[in-house]
Amino acid sequence: MQSSGSYASKRVYIETFGCQMNENDSDRVRSLLTSIGYVETQVPENSELILLNTCTVRDKAEQKVYSLLGRFRKLKSERPSLVIAVLGCVAQQQGVELLKRVPFLDMVVGPQNLHRLGDLIETVKDGSERVVATEQSETIEADEYTAPASVDGPKAFVPIMRGCNNFCSYCIVPYTRGREVSRGAAEIVGEISGMVFRGVKEVTLIGQNVNSYAPFRPRETEPYTDFAGLLEEVACIDGLERIRFVTSHPKDISKRLIRLFGSEPKIVSSLHLPVQSGSDRILELMGRGYTASEYLSKVKLLKNASRGISLSSDIIVGFPGETDKDFAATMALIEEVRYDNLFSFKYSPRPGTRAALFEEQVEAEVASERLQILQKRQREISAENSMALKGSYIEVLVEGPSKGDSEEKSGRTPCNRVVNFSDLPDFNVEVGDLVELLITDVYPNSLRGTYHERGLLCS
Ligand code: SF4
Repeated sequence: MQSSGSYASKRVYIETFGCQMNENDSDRVRSLLTSIGYVETQVPENSELILLNTCTVRDKAEQKVYSLLGRFRKLKSERPSLVIAVLGCVAQQQGVELLKRVPFLDMVVGPQNLHRLGDLIETVKDGSERVVATEQSETIEADEYTAPASVDGPKAFVPIMRGCNNFCSYCIVPYTRGREVSRGAAEIVGEISGMVFRGVKEVTLIGQNVNSYAPFRPRETEPYTDFAGLLEEVACIDGLERIRFVTSHPKDISKRLIRLFGSEPKIVSSLHLPVQSGSDRILELMGRGYTASEYLSKVKLLKNASRGISLSSDIIVGFPGETDKDFAATMALIEEVRYDNLFSFKYSPRPGTRAALFEEQVEAEVASERLQILQKRQREISAENSMALKGSYIEVLVEGPSKGDSEEKSGRTPCNRVVNFSDLPDFNVEVGDLVELLITDVYPNSLRGTYHERGLLCS
């Protein structure tokens, strides 16, 4: 949804923070607003509606929202008809307090109420009312997913569930996104089939904990579909080439699911499996529900099921009570797994979580130093893993022109690495084609490839 020019009657500026769930929610909001006549603008000063879709997982993202709102105060005072809304997890967590704290804010809308935005805008637009919509439900409303994310290119994200039941001690998500509720398998397969019809070749199934996917069955006698079963159904969609999913909780990844990595070619050989720490003591304090050795045995099964599987993970350093010995256990774990990619953060206490009340908070300088050590070693491991790809043939899904050189094309490997390559006159390579490339060069953030003689695999 791009602005069609300065004559559009209703323009919306959307800024999104946080995870892929939020990105997807914003895409659905875009679709919904398009259907009621809005066009998107990249300039908040030109808009009639400003939406901030927020994240509260880390303090930094939350503070950014408040600083942006401060910037919009002047706009609102100059143009009172401007509607400003905070959506997402900060909205859910703060609720009416946010309206009190930000007196010029019109709407506070939690993640489960985004499908009501059209009606809510009507309620506030004349300035006589301000609304808070943060009701949570243990079922999925019939109209919650009726505005699917727009499809642009060969890749798409599809939410299969929302919420989380795990209550890890540091995490605010179960409070802001509610308990786990799964969409029906037939609805998901229908949405993906429609996307494939519009040119999608790769889908990423998303949810806070996709491994505990469990759709509601009105009757016990109805067939039960677990996450592995859903993947098998999605894999049957003709024309769909690649399936990814995120996020997987290590305690819930089943042996049946692990086996699918070896038996179902559409499931890419790549998995994000957040470990958070290599220390059993810290994992226990985090409430993660597994030990380091249980995690490592699942990694071993994955590596056996799919040779060369690309693994990535999340790690929190400086969790309350983390000692040098605990940190050393985390370093030992990354040496053993040798992730391709790691998302590592300093622990950030979130109000309302159990860990925020833990004593023995780690000093900021100690946590920073540990983070630097971890990230430095991971950069080396990632570079070594990438170097090992040089000289190999890899299947690449073509996504469009290369960012650095529009004469070149760019795509992604099954492990989500960017590969840039020159177009050859003999091949008419289009967006969405799968091509097999010989990897000739390795750079910190991308690979360079060239055509292998087998050329085009599939289009
Ligand atoms: S699994 Fe834990 S970290 Fe992940 S969303 Fe649920 S509570 Fe948060």
